[in-house]
Amino acid sequence: MMPRFATALVLAFALAPSAAVGQSQTPQQFFGFAIGADGELARYPKVLEYLQHLAQTTNRIKYEELGKTTMGHPYVLATISAPENLARMGRLVAINRRLADPRGLSETEAQKLARDGRPFYLLFTTIHSTEVGNMQAITEVAHRLATSADPDVREILDNVVLLLVPSQNPDGQVMVIDHWYKTKGTKLNRVFPDLYHKYTGHDDNRDWFMFTQKETRMAVEMQNRLKPHLTHDMHQMGPTGSRIFVPPYEDPYDRNVHPLIAQEQVQVGQAMATALVAEGKGGVAFAEQYDLWTPARQYTVYHGQPRILTEIASASLADPFVNPAGADRALGPQEPRWNFPLPYRRPEWRLRQIVDYGVTAVFAGLSHMAKYRTSFLENSYRIHADWVNRKEGPYAFVIPASQRDPFEAMELLNIMRIGQVEIHRTNNAFNAGGKTYEAGSHVIKIAQPYGAFAKTMLEKQVYPDLRLFPGGPPKPPYDVTGHTLGMLMGVDVVQIDAPFTADLVDVTKAELRGVGVPGKPRWAYLIGPESNAGFLAVSRLQKARVPVFRAARGFETGNGRSFAAGTWIVAPTPAAAELLEDTATTTGLNVHSADRPVAVDGFRLKPDTRIGLWRGANVMPGGWLMWLFEQYGFNHQIVSSTDFAGDLAARYDTIVLPSGITRDRIVRGLDPATHDKEWAWAYGVGQEGWSKLSEWVRSGGTLVAIGSAVETARELLDLPIEKVLPETSRFRRFTGGEPGRERQASSADVDRALRDAFMSPARLAATLRDRVIEPTSLFYCPGSLLNNEFDAAHPVAFGMPPAWPVFFESDQAYRLTPGFSIRAEVVSRYPKSGPILASGWLLGEDLLRDQANVVSFRVGKGQVVTLASQVDFRTQPRATFKLLFNAIFHGPSTAVDSVQLAKLGAGTTN
Ligand SMILES: [Zn+2]
Repeated sequence: MMPRFATALVLAFALAPSAAVGQSQTPQQFFGFAIGADGELARYPKVLEYLQHLAQTTNRIKYEELGKTTMGHPYVLATISAPENLARMGRLVAINRRLADPRGLSETEAQKLARDGRPFYLLFTTIHSTEVGNMQAITEVAHRLATSADPDVREILDNVVLLLVPSQNPDGQVMVIDHWYKTKGTKLNRVFPDLYHKYTGHDDNRDWFMFTQKETRMAVEMQNRLKPHLTHDMHQMGPTGSRIFVPPYEDPYDRNVHPLIAQEQVQVGQAMATALVAEGKGGVAFAEQYDLWTPARQYTVYHGQPRILTEIASASLADPFVNPAGADRALGPQEPRWNFPLPYRRPEWRLRQIVDYGVTAVFAGLSHMAKYRTSFLENSYRIHADWVNRKEGPYAFVIPASQRDPFEAMELLNIMRIGQVEIHRTNNAFNAGGKTYEAGSHVIKIAQPYGAFAKTMLEKQVYPDLRLFPGGPPKPPYDVTGHTLGMLMGVDVVQIDAPFTADLVDVTKAELRGVGVPGKPRWAYLIGPESNAGFLAVSRLQKARVPVFRAARGFETGNGRSFAAGTWIVAPTPAAAELLEDTATTTGLNVHSADRPVAVDGFRLKPDTRIGLWRGANVMPGGWLMWLFEQYGFNHQIVSSTDFAGDLAARYDTIVLPSGITRDRIVRGLDPATHDKEWAWAYGVGQEGWSKLSEWVRSGGTLVAIGSAVETARELLDLPIEKVLPETSRFRRFTGGEPGRERQASSADVDRALRDAFMSPARLAATLRDRVIEPTSLFYCPGSLLNNEFDAAHPVAFGMPPAWPVFFESDQAYRLTPGFSIRAEVVSRYPKSGPILASGWLLGEDLLRDQANVVSFRVGKGQVVTLASQVDFRTQPRATFKLLFNAIFHGPSTAVDSVQLAKLGAGTTN
C-alpha cells in the first residue's frame, strides 16, 4: 500500500503577523529539489505538508481537510487571500449565497453587495493523475501568493479569494508518483498501469451529474457551500500538438449554459492566452477540440460559474519529451492562425515548462478576476436572476407519483437535490399539459436559481448535426451527446411547457420515505421485478441464506393482484422479514405477501451466486462495474490470471466481461517483463487459459459480455451472431504522420489538413480521403439514448418495460446467423418502425432497424448473454442494469415447478 499522510493537523488557521513571512521556505528548500526538475515530482502528502507550512508561517492561507478520499487520503482545500478577507469569510460567503439566489433582491442591493464582496476563484489541480505537472505548479502559486510583496500579488490578495484544491484525485496522485519512484532505474513500465482512481480511472471527470464518487461529492458540496464565481480545471493533453489550450471552447455549447458564463470563459481564457504570448510562450490554442456539451464533464457551468479548462501538453511524465518525428522538428503546428497566434518552435518539452505555463495561466486568471472584481459578482446576480425570472418554456418537469421503479425515482430526486435544485410535491391531484397527475407527484420548476442544471438533466437532448464541412462527415463531440436523466434511470419524467397551478409543498430538504412490509405471510413474500432495489434485497437475502425464487411467468394472486414474470418469491423466514423491512424503508421497494401458493413454475437462485469480474488493468468499464457490484453488495471477486491454475468452476458461477476486455487482454494481458508480481492478476492466461475459459462455459458456467466484449465472447465460443454496423463507424484512424500514434481524427486535425491542402477543392478532397476521414458516414452514434424493445417474458429482460431507451456509445448491433449446436434468443432489439433516437445524436438510424441488441445463448450446459450496447455505461443507465443483473443470476439458477414452490411457507424447500 501507499504511505499514508500522518500529520493530524486538520485546521491550521494562521493568525501570525506578516512578519512571520520570513520563516516560510521556498518550494525548493522544502522539497529538496527545484520544482519541475527533470525526473523529480513532489508527492501529494508532502504538498499538503507544504500548504500547512505556509498556513503556519503566513497569514494568507487557511488549510482545511474536507474529508477522506475513496482510499483514505485527505481531500484538502486551501483558501488563500488577504488576511482581512480571510477574517470575514463568513460575510463573503453570505454575499455569494445571496447573489446566487437573488429572489427578492433589487438590482441596487445586488450592486451594493457586489461592491462589498470578493469573487472566489476555485482552482482544481489534477483530477487526471498522470497529468502530473499541475500539482507541481501550484506549490509555486501558493508560495508566491503567501509570501510575495509584489503589487500584482497584493492586488490579487485584496480582491480575490482563491479556493485551491491541490488534487481533485489524491489517490491517483499517490499511486502514479509512488509508481514513478518505485520503478526508477528498473526495466519496469514507469507509467502506472491501472486505473488511477480506484473505480473510475480517467472517467473521474465524467461524474459531475451522477455524483457517484466520494471526491465528486466533496467537490460539489464545497461549491454548494461557498458558491465560487469561476472554476479553473487544470489538465494536460497529448505531447505532440499545441502546448496549451485555453477557452473559448468550440461548438457545441449546451444552450442551457448562460450566455454571460460563455462570455466570462472567453474573457478569462483570453487573459491567459495574452499573458502566455506576452511572455513568449508559444503554442497557445483556443476555440478547438474541446466543446461545452455534456454535464458529465462540468458541474460549474450549471451552477453560475464559467469553467476555465487549461490543457497543457504533457512530457513523458516527469522526463523530457522529444519529438518522435525527429529531434530537429519543432513540436505542434508551425503555421500561426487566429486561434493559434504563436507556434512553439522547439522539438523538446519538459516538466518545468508545464509548471511555467500553468503558473502563468493561473496568475493571469487571478489578475483578471482581481481587476474585474465587481463584475464577477454582478454577473453572478444576473445569471441567477435570469433563471429565477425565466418566462421561456418549459415551465416544469413532473415526476408522477406512480413509477415502475420508485427506488430510482427517489435516486433521481436525490441527484437533483445534490445539484441544489428545488423540488415540490403535490398534496392533491392536478392537471398539467392536458393530463391529470395524482397526489404525491413531484414538480421541478425551471424558474429557480439552478434551473439550468434541472433543465439540461431532465429534457431530451437535441444534438446539433455538426459536420466537418457542409455535406461532409460528422464532427465528433468531445464526449457523449445524450444524458436525459429520466431515460437513463428508468424514471417517468414529463415535460410541461405551459404554466399550471397545483397545491405544491416545498420538499427540497424533506427525506424521502419508503413503505413498510406487510406481516409475515403463510406462503411467501412477493416482490415485482420492476425495481432495481429488488437486487439490493436479493444480495442481502443471499448473504443471509434465505431461499430466493423467481416466477417464470406472470400470475395473479387470490386477491386479484397481478405480478409480472420474474417476480421475486422469497421464503418468509425471520431474516427475510427483517431484511425486506429495512430495504423497503430505505428504497421504496414494494413488498407483498401471499398466504396461499400460486400455481406458477419458477427458478431457484443459486445460493450465494459467485460472480467473477474480469476487470482488466486500466479498463474503465471494469472499474465502474466493480463500484456497482460493491454498491449492490454482490458476492464478487476480480478474476485473476492465477485463478487459471485451478478449477474455474470451483470459484465462479458467472463471469462478466466488461466493454474493453478483448481476446488480447485475456490471452496476453500485462507483460510480466515490465510489470512486477503486484500485477500478476492482470497477466495473460495464454492460449491454454483461453481454452479453459471456453470449456468452463460449455460445462455449465455463465458468461456475460458487454459492449466491445461481445466480440470477445463471440470469438471464444463461436457464437452464431454477426455485426451489422460498418466496421469503422467513426473515422479512419488518423496518424498525423506518426506511425504507431494512431488516434481518432479531431477537428484540429481536419483544420490542419484543410490548411495543408491550401484550400484547393480537389486537393482538399484528396487530402480528406487519403489522410483523415473515412469517406463513409453511414453510421454514427457517439453516446446517445436509443429506443429498444424488450421481451420481458425472457428471464434476461424480467422487469423491463416493453420499450425503453438503452445507452449506445459507438457500440454494435447484431444479427443471428445459423448455428448448429448453439440456441440463441433475442432479448432486446431496435424497433422495426418509429424513431430509434431518443436523446442525443444518431446518423444511419435505418442500419439498426429490427437488429438485435441483447442475445441469450445456450452453449453446452452453460449460458452466455451478450449485451451489445453499454447498458452499464459509467453506471449511468440504471434503467438497463436489470438486463445485466438478470443475466448474472439467471444462468446459475435452476428450474423448479409449482409443486416445489408451494412448499416454501412450510420451510421444506431450501
Ligand atoms: Zn485530463
